[in-house]
Order: sequence, then structure tokens, then C-alpha cells
Amino acid sequence: MAGTASGAIWVHGELAPDGSLAKISTEVATLARTLAGAAGTEVLGVVIGADPTAAATELATFVPRVLAVTEPATADHAAGTIVGQRLAALIEREKPAFVFTGAGPEGRDVAGVVSALSGWGVLVNAVGVAWEDGPVVTMSVFGGKLTTTSQFTTDHGIVTVRPNAIAAAPAEAAGSVEPTTVDVPLSLPQVKVVDRVEEAGAAAPIEEARIIVAGGRGIGGPDGFTVVEELAEALGGAVGATRAAVDAGWIPYAQQIGQTGKIVKPALYLALGISGAIQHKVGMQTASTIVAVNRDPDAPIADFADLVVIGDLFEVAPALLAALRARAG
Ligand SMILES: Cc1cc2nc3c(=O)[nH]c(=O)nc-3n(C[C@H](O)[C@H](O)[C@H](O)COP(=O)(O)OP(=O)(O)OC[C@H]3O[C@@H](n4cnc5c(N)ncnc54)[C@H](O)[C@@H]3O)c2cc1C
Repeated sequence: MAGTASGAIWVHGELAPDGSLAKISTEVATLARTLAGAAGTEVLGVVIGADPTAAATELATFVPRVLAVTEPATADHAAGTIVGQRLAALIEREKPAFVFTGAGPEGRDVAGVVSALSGWGVLVNAVGVAWEDGPVVTMSVFGGKLTTTSQFTTDHGIVTVRPNAIAAAPAEAAGSVEPTTVDVPLSLPQVKVVDRVEEAGAAAPIEEARIIVAGGRGIGGPDGFTVVEELAEALGGAVGATRAAVDAGWIPYAQQIGQTGKIVKPALYLALGISGAIQHKVGMQTASTIVAVNRDPDAPIADFADLVVIGDLFEVAPALLAALRARAG
């Protein structure tokens, strides 16, 4: 392997369940490339997995070089601990300056393991990063009530980046993939996966949907979600929900949007019977267009929606559905 310039910025490429590159990693790679440009340093991707080739090849469309480490143990073990150990060993060997990863479950695990093994600090859940002799990291904390800006006091560190905070954009030219080995024993206890059950709703990943139709407590019960699902289907979108609807057992947690659910950034967010509480808002406020249907003109969502339809959703939603179906012929 060719030597890696010290001071480089690394991006950890996560594998999606089908072996492709996770969407969050395309966003993190775009950010890391921009920062490396500002810093005048190298940007390099690292993909570690049972079969890293497809994801590494995809990551190479965002950054000029990608190290692909084959790690069979991730096939039936929780990936984060193993990937974190391999990444820490690579960091020890190659000495990059900063490592960027996603702020999802795997990225958080990886950041924690790398921090523990390397003694590096971590800045978590970045919503924006600038460069001034190092990353200047903007983080949204306390459910979006406070925005902090932080820098490392050392010349190295790990940053986890919140999903949907950065618009992914491939590089002008595709880079190279370099198969790499890391011959260090895995010393930390492993977590073996004994069963995998596909989550209900996983067929329509809401983090990646361009259109989301979401239902809240105003939907009134599980049957109320029928019209939400029909509208989502008619619009070619995915179904989302508030925590109130999830806690009531009307819809699986996989569809929850907000502080303790998913962060989404669709082109259109259609909110039905949702009040717009801060904990929900932080998960969907960056949607390009927010349309709310609410019978209460003073609902908080009216303050940040682009369009509010004041009315009973059980009248408005079926009328909208009928109009969409009529238009589709
Ligand atoms: C630590 C913490 C974390 C949280 N995390 C999340 C999170 O991740 N996601 C999340 O969503 N919430 C979260 N919450 C909960 C959040 O505070 C709100 O309670 C929740 O978002 C409210 O959901 P809702 O809008 O569906 O319900 P409500 O606030 O009860 O609003 C229902 C709305 O429906 C309208 N409505 C009722 N009937 C109709 C009708 N027939 N037609 C039209 N409109 C109608 C009402 O006017 C009202 O505005 C969290 C709370 C805490 C404390």
C-alpha cells in the first residue's frame, strides 16, 4: 500500500445491509472531501466489512482513495466493535489527523471504540463543520434548543455527522480502491448476532424518502394510518409518525421521526394530525417543503410549516387522495 500522508482526513464508509455504501457515508464523504480541500490535505476512505468491495467502490466516487479491509467476522457479529478495532489499528499505523463517521448506530459504536483505543476525543452529531486549523464543529444539542460550536484541543479527533445534515455530491473523478490488511488480533469482547429479523416498515426507509406522509396523535388509532399509507403510496413516498403514534402502538418505531427517532430531509413532508412539538420538529425541520393538516390554527407546526391546511384530516386527506388518484387516471 502506498504511504498515507500524515494529517489526512479519513472517512469511515459504513455498509448498508445489502453490502452497498450506506447513504450517511456518502454525506460524510462529501463533507470530508470539502474539508480536506479547505485544509489542503489528503482525504481517504476506509471500508471494513465481510465483503467491502461494492461499498468501497461506491465510496471511491466521492474521495480519491479508499482502503478496503476484508473482515469476515462482521458477517455474524455486531460490526461496530470489530470495525472500531480495525480502524483504531489502521489509525495507529497510518496516523491520520481526523476521522469522520456517521452519527447512526454503527458510527457511534465505531467512534466510541476508536476513542477508547486511541485516546482520541469525539465531537458527536455534527450538523455542520467548517475548517480553521482543524474542524470547527457545529452541533445541535438539547433537542435542537441549543447550537454549540466546538473544536478539538488536539490535532486529531473523531467527528460523527448527523444523517441528512449534508447534501451528498460525488467527486468529479472516481478514485481508487486499495485492498488492505490489518493484522492485529481483535482483543475486545465480541457480540455475536444470533438472529436478524427485518423490521416492519424497513422496505421504505424514511431517511432516504423524497416524500414523507406522517401521522400523529390526530390520526386517532391504527386504522387511521390507512389513509396515511394510501397517500404515501399515491405520492410515491414513505410513511412517518410521531412518537405519540408510535407509543400508542399504532405504527412501528422504525417510522418514528424526531429526537428519539429518525432525522429526515425529504423534499416534501406532509404532516397529518401532528402538533409540531420541538422533539418532532428536530427530526423533520430541514424538509424542503412542509405541509401540515391540522384542525387547530394555533398548533406549533403552523409556525414553521410552508403551508397549513386548517381542517379535519379525515376530510382533507381523503379529498387529497381522491384528487391524486384522479390525476393519475
Ligand atoms: C425526551 C423526549 C423525546 C421525544 N422524542 C420524540 C420524537 O422523536 N418524535 C416525536 O414525534 N415526539 C417525541 N417526543 C414527544 C413530543 O414531545 C410530543 O409529545 C409528540 O411529538 C406529539 O405527537 P403528536 O404531534 O402526534 O401529538 P399531539 O401533540 O397530541 O398533537 C396532535 C395534533 O393533531 C391535531 N388533530 C387532532 N385531531 C385532528 C383531526 N381530526 N384533524 C386534524 N388535526 C387533528 C391536534 O390539533 C394536534 O395539533 C419526545 C418527548 C420527549 C420528552
